Amino acid sequence: MASIFTRIIQGEIPCHKIAENDHCIAFMDINPVAKGHVLVVPKEETDYFFDLEDETLAQLMSFAKPIAKAIEKVVPCERIGVTILGLEVPHAHIHLIPLDKRGTISFANKLNMSKEELQKLAKEITSNI
Ligand code: AMP
Repeated sequence: MASIFTRIIQGEIPCHKIAENDHCIAFMDINPVAKGHVLVVPKEETDYFFDLEDETLAQLMSFAKPIAKAIEKVVPCERIGVTILGLEVPHAHIHLIPLDKRGTISFANKLNMSKEELQKLAKEITSNI
């Protein structure tokens, strides 16, 4: 069965999309750990991040870079952290997460953000790429 991210890529499930190209897509994490938490996903469905082809890894990071810079412009933060978990969705992806100086991000503590707030942030980030 297709992963939930493949279903998003194919347009079967909605997302708060930020950008996409032939190889990758970026959208807001629906259960963010911080304001501006974005997922960057290769369109090719591979479960484990370190099974991705080298070329795909390069495409993913090149695609993520201007998005991280755009998040920085929209969300006050020290820098954008990059995390790889892959415990919930078996489709390789990276998390871009705005960090403050205290570095208090916890994946056990999710924010409660409305669809409207996520959509507004996605638009602001897109317009800063
Ligand atoms: P992990 O696989 O452990 O890296 O975590 C998957 C991440 O995907 C979690 O942070 C979820 O909140 C997020 N997530 C799951 N389903 C969706 C969805 N439909 N749209 C956006 N984010 C999602």
